[in-house]
Amino acid sequence: MREQTPCPECDGMRWAEGPGGVLQPCPGCDGTGQDRGVESFFVYVFDVTLALAATRLDNQRVVMDGDAAFRLKALGGTQTGDYRIRLRDGSGHYLSTGGAGSTNDLVRNGALIGTAQFPFPIIPHVIYAPSGHILIDLENQSGAPANIVQIAFIGAKVTPTPAPLDNDKLVR
Ligand SMILES: [Zn+2]
Repeated sequence: MREQTPCPECDGMRWAEGPGGVLQPCPGCDGTGQDRGVESFFVYVFDVTLALAATRLDNQRVVMDGDAAFRLKALGGTQTGDYRIRLRDGSGHYLSTGGAGSTNDLVRNGALIGTAQFPFPIIPHVIYAPSGHILIDLENQSGAPANIVQIAFIGAKVTPTPAPLDNDKLVR
């Protein structure tokens, strides 16, 4: 699903006729005009071993499947030691910063990466296009020779909502 796919209920017009003919934001898309799509649960997994103390690894990537967009809703993971992390959205923009003048924009895993039992919620959700990718910067903080990290990007594959039946298009 592309983010620009029009809402099938209002055909991207954003408004719908409510009671008494009053116009109201389309309930199918909350007035955005964009298709929210159909979701199915999915997890993309990222595995890495940070081999040396204070290893910095930039621009690691998880590539999305080509069959659907991905709506990232939560982060979970396991690790054998502490690390810092920074993620980018589907446009390549960073999802964290330390602010002007800071020297490190990476977030400690304990502040951003949850667990299977308590995944960290991503609100609002972040959408990645089909065949897009999540870029990841990592910095080992464990001091151990090998920090074995797995991150679960938890969310949903999103495919376009099927178009409503249109009598004019039925084969007779
Ligand atoms: Zn709509």
